[in-house]
Amino acid sequence: MKKLISLISLIILLVILSGLLYYSGSEYGVSQENSIGSSENYRDGLLKSEYNKVDRIANYNIEVEFDSASKSIAVNEGIIWINKTNFPTSEIQFHLYANAYKSNNTLFAKAYSLSPDAQTQIDIKSFRVNGELSQLIYFQPEIANLHDSTVAKVLLDKTIEPGDSVRINFEYTMKIPRSVKRMGYATGRNFFFVSQWFPKVGVFENGRWVCSQYHPYLNFYSDFGDYSVKIKVPKDYTVAATGVEEAKTSDAQNTTYHFVQSGVHDFVWLVTDEILHRNNIYTRKDGSTITIQAYVQPERERYFDRYFSAVKNCLEYFENNIGIYPYQNVSLVDVPRTSASGGMEYPTLFTVGAELFAPKDAGQPEYLVTHEFSHQFFYGLIANNEVYEAWLDEGFTSYISTKIMYHYQPEILETFKFATYIPVFGLNFLSYNEIPLIYTLVDVKVPEGARSITSYYQNLTIGSIADTSYKLPTRLSYVVNSYNKPELVLHTLERYLGHDKMMNILKEYYNEYKYRHPHGNDFINIVKRNCNEDMSWFFDEFYRAPKTFDYQVTSIKKTSSNEYEILVERLGDGIFKNDVALYTDKDTLFQKWDGIERWKILKFKTANEVIAAEIDPYRKNLLDINFANNSLTVSHRVWASLSLSIRFFFWVQNALMILGSIG
Ligand SMILES: [Zn+2]
Repeated sequence: MKKLISLISLIILLVILSGLLYYSGSEYGVSQENSIGSSENYRDGLLKSEYNKVDRIANYNIEVEFDSASKSIAVNEGIIWINKTNFPTSEIQFHLYANAYKSNNTLFAKAYSLSPDAQTQIDIKSFRVNGELSQLIYFQPEIANLHDSTVAKVLLDKTIEPGDSVRINFEYTMKIPRSVKRMGYATGRNFFFVSQWFPKVGVFENGRWVCSQYHPYLNFYSDFGDYSVKIKVPKDYTVAATGVEEAKTSDAQNTTYHFVQSGVHDFVWLVTDEILHRNNIYTRKDGSTITIQAYVQPERERYFDRYFSAVKNCLEYFENNIGIYPYQNVSLVDVPRTSASGGMEYPTLFTVGAELFAPKDAGQPEYLVTHEFSHQFFYGLIANNEVYEAWLDEGFTSYISTKIMYHYQPEILETFKFATYIPVFGLNFLSYNEIPLIYTLVDVKVPEGARSITSYYQNLTIGSIADTSYKLPTRLSYVVNSYNKPELVLHTLERYLGHDKMMNILKEYYNEYKYRHPHGNDFINIVKRNCNEDMSWFFDEFYRAPKTFDYQVTSIKKTSSNEYEILVERLGDGIFKNDVALYTDKDTLFQKWDGIERWKILKFKTANEVIAAEIDPYRKNLLDINFANNSLTVSHRVWASLSLSIRFFFWVQNALMILGSIG
């Protein structure tokens, strides 16, 4: 019955949309064949113009058979690994991340309790190197835990010299667990999300292997290559996956999907017997097209348009400001409520989940879509080590998704949104330090990065952005140093350098490091070479140490008929180069203060009447932990409107704890 209703609504929608299409130029279709608008521009899902820019190190050819009755897969996996470094190696290391679900004693399971139906492991039937049966040795490179078998290596008879390649083959079976974190089936639905499922080669760099255990919360790191994956499923099931569907063949019982994708570093897929699938088209400036595929739960059908427009906004913003998305497809997967896979990124595919009721001005699910899409660049294309330097993906993604949301949906930032919950009269309950808030409701906007400020306040001192991510001692210190603080630091950097310069830096960073593995210092060096000023101080203060920032205007003293002394203080250990503003009844005067001393007296000459002084008036430093003391009015008995708005600003930041934890 449900299916019938879905089918009918699909048909109705088709009819409506076919009319709209004439005007919009978009395409719509339930089968992909209708919508590969410009496949001639692509080779294996990657733009031909980008094809030679990829170093193909780890290449996979996989055949999977999915059995719905036993909820299991049987896999035959071939890997060709090419040593593209200048160093020889006599071993190969692998991630076997599905083994994180083996028991409640694994490193991963320290954070997630695994009921028996959520436990699984890779049951290897055979493992071969260059055709010869070989032995895997499990080991724990980072955290000692003998129960953890998420990393293994094979010792080779023959050293692989630079330029040589090796052929690996795994045959294995695996039960798909009940959904925990990123992998598994959703209860109550035939929805199987299969990620981190196949043995994946580690990264050989600078003469040593980097192959991390599956740490709780943390993400992944692997090399680029070409993928060809054939997935055989019962006929009434649909498969979505990384890459483009090159072929689909059926016999009486089964359908085999063949996906290919060049120039990616992971592969994810899902299989389900109940999902809505529609396509849309984004056209780049050069006329080439990207197919946006959306796979949506039937009960969230009404979100299709919002999903498509959020993805299109992202594609456009990146193309206009940073660089093009080079793949043929991007797939959005809306997961069921019983799936734990919501809000996660994979190459050319990401997952999201919407609330059943989500008014548009609340900005969800758009914010989540924008975040997860942005990972296509900061992780998918610029592929940093997420286990060591998570800020390069999560921090940049948080920063750029805020920029995108502010650009396309500024209405979610207006504080008038609060007004809908506030009676116009009788505002006594809504005050902060006796300030009636209504006066500033129409003027003050939620500042960029406000979502991150509240979290940042909760962890000011544990860890710095430069710390190795998996070594941070608590989940909060990991989240703050990977997502929130880097977002605030990148906004601060942009405010310090100017928007255009920041976008040029990101453009350069993208062009230099796409299909590569940058480190924090690579980004810092790009910033430095784009600035006339030596920017080392900025990264010393914001990136390398857990410093806190708090500047204050302490006093305003009239020393003669036309001179004022402003006493400013640095209360925190963090140093920022500040502007200091003096507001008079006729104009505003500015001075610079390098912010190094603990206090400083700045002399201003003016014959006008001074109203107030303010440090960092443009709010460049979003990490100042107390904006309220940044300004001081001449008369202490009344609050000037300036101080009022600032205090409201502060209140809004603290009230805006909206965003939950996302991947
Ligand atoms: Zn993320």
